[in-house]
Amino acid sequence: MELFESVPLATLTTLKVGGTASYVALCRKNDDIEAALAFARERGLPWYVLGGGSNVLAPDEGFHGVIVRALFEGMVFRNVDERVEVEVGSGIVWDELVQESVERKLWGLENLAGIPGLVGAAPVQNIGAYGADVSNTIIHVDVFDTSSKKVIRFSKEQCAFSYRDSFFKHNPAFIIISVCFSLSVKDAPHIEYPDILARKGQGSTLTTSKEIAEVIREIRSKKFPDLVLVGTAGSFFKNPIISEETYAALRAAYPELPGFPQAENKTKVKVPLAWILDHILHLRGYTKGLVRLFEKQPLVLVAEHNATATEINSFADEIAAKVKEATGIQIEREVQSL
Ligand SMILES: Cc1cc2nc3c(=O)[nH]c(=O)nc-3n(C[C@H](O)[C@H](O)[C@H](O)COP(=O)(O)OP(=O)(O)OC[C@H]3O[C@@H](n4cnc5c(N)ncnc54)[C@H](O)[C@@H]3O)c2cc1C
Repeated sequence: MELFESVPLATLTTLKVGGTASYVALCRKNDDIEAALAFARERGLPWYVLGGGSNVLAPDEGFHGVIVRALFEGMVFRNVDERVEVEVGSGIVWDELVQESVERKLWGLENLAGIPGLVGAAPVQNIGAYGADVSNTIIHVDVFDTSSKKVIRFSKEQCAFSYRDSFFKHNPAFIIISVCFSLSVKDAPHIEYPDILARKGQGSTLTTSKEIAEVIREIRSKKFPDLVLVGTAGSFFKNPIISEETYAALRAAYPELPGFPQAENKTKVKVPLAWILDHILHLRGYTKGLVRLFEKQPLVLVAEHNATATEINSFADEIAAKVKEATGIQIEREVQSL
């Protein structure tokens, strides 16, 4: 285990705010995790698992504890009938896995191209984009159980995946060390999203997974702010999933409000929060001090240099209160608080 002392959390998270972490432990094998946890236990300190820090808001007062980074390596592909299974270490950069899979002409991860972060965090909030959720491709997840100090395999069913949610999000005692994905060798394009389809009309053939991944990265580069210039964690809130009745009532007031009935529960409707922020509340670009809703995608919160976690929290609370007042919907944060 490599151990660092007094590390600014702003350097470990893409929102780039927060005080200092007392310790950061880089863990590449099970023994490293055991050593990091023992180190924390001996000093009576809490610990927190961090990947690429692209979905975490770190507090201004810092973290008086041990940040455990599960940086397990490895990406092993094996042919299984007409599929390919790939076992990937938690520390592999997510988009590098996507790129390797499309270079090998495999299908399944291409719509998730360009999402920041590491493989170990992908199952935690069941990352998704452009009509794909990572859970569609996951076979199992291996975790280090910090109670028994043993490695346990979670089947896909045990992971309890749903929209931006999983078992792991509520059970931080399980540290993900590797994830196994099932990819298809047969063409399986999902290009129904209007943004992607529009590219077809503009000359892209969208016939290979590599081409789809490239197009998606290009679309994303225009939708998200530049991580080098500002702080952001992508979508700050989840899209709300509401009852049919609530949706019908809102549609009566706002006839153009889009809604997507949920496959797993047809009585529930997912509503794009960006539409509410934009068309009902007119908050596109809304700014308070150093924090704002991104002009090109109001679901994305942008923190300028020198913004604080306190400012971000009160800005996010204000947005949530405005949504509640206008629609009655209590929105939830997608971003995790450290
Ligand atoms: C510009 C931008 C665009 C984004 N676009 C999308 C998008 O399209 N779709 C989407 O779903 N998300 C998106 N995100 C959010 C983010 O990229 C994902 O949630 C990503 O999976 C987080 O990975 P990470 O390694 O940075 O995790 P972190 O932010 O470090 O951690 C996230 C959570 O997972 C936990 N965790 C991390 N690693 C492990 C582990 N090994 N074991 C157990 N728990 C762990 C952490 O404790 C924390 O609760 C975006 C973020 C940004 C900044």
